[in-house]
Amino acid sequence: MTIPLISLNDGNSIPQLGFGVFKVDPAETERIVTEALEVGYRHIDTAAVYGNEEGVGRAIAASGIPRDELFITTKLWNSEQGSDTSGAALDTSLQKLGLDSVDLYLIHWPRPDLDRYVDTFRVMEQLRSEGLTRSIGVSNFHQPHLQRIFDETGTVPAVNQIELHPGFAQRELRAFQEPLGIHTEAWGPLGQGKYDLFGEKAVSAAASAHSVAPAQVVIRWHLQQGIIVFPKSSTRARMAENFDVFGFELTDAEIDAINAIDRGQRVGADPDTATF
Ligand code: NAD
Repeated sequence: MTIPLISLNDGNSIPQLGFGVFKVDPAETERIVTEALEVGYRHIDTAAVYGNEEGVGRAIAASGIPRDELFITTKLWNSEQGSDTSGAALDTSLQKLGLDSVDLYLIHWPRPDLDRYVDTFRVMEQLRSEGLTRSIGVSNFHQPHLQRIFDETGTVPAVNQIELHPGFAQRELRAFQEPLGIHTEAWGPLGQGKYDLFGEKAVSAAASAHSVAPAQVVIRWHLQQGIIVFPKSSTRARMAENFDVFGFELTDAEIDAINAIDRGQRVGADPDTATF
């Protein structure tokens, strides 16, 4: 299976479909990521705060897959913002992952109440110039946060990783990001199972029409709009199902019908008010 590559604004490229490990039990992470790599995933999305970077690292090491065939993302946690002028948090993440560098390093949340994300992004630029991460980006940033980053640093983040699923499709933010060359990554692409997305008629009808599972329809909805996506599952059958999404194509009418599910309702925290 060849996964499409998306070219980022810094010349690097990222596999459009990956595997996320939020809430994957650290004790189970090595097994689960090993299975994901066996299924064929080559892009893994983790974060310092998930507490499972070591398991990701052990799975990578055991796989024997050449480093340049993998795309690994991790994220700087909020408590390190501003205080971490030396990039110590990335050093710790790299040690846990057993890697010399990651492919993408993200500021996990903007935490506008702390007002440190611009300075933090300058540290990220330094880490990139030192070769410790190939690309840098942000997560959960609203339009004004992005605007401040490029007004004050002159750098356009490679990606913004945001909550995005049919019930919360983030059309306005995507429209802002696209002409600037900021690629959208979807977190919670399946709505984290927090509402009956798979029971929505537009999703179940498309699933029947193509003889696929509802989750596969939703992943196609992301892919066909150019969104980078990394659904999470702990069960191998679902990992394989979520990876097997290149044998059918949604019609424009099916995409439109799924677009109509958007109710502008988050299932996660609002980045403007999140204080964790
Ligand atoms: P998700 O939308 O991928 O939902 C995961 C849940 O969907 C699983 O627990 C499982 O119950 C269910 N599921 C998965 N595959 C299925 C299938 N084929 N059929 C039926 N049910 C299925 O939610 P997520 O894990 O929160 O998001 C994906 C990734 O995004 C995370 O693992 C993480 O890497 C990243 N993420 C980032 C942030 C952030 O703040 N940047 C926040 C949350 C998640």
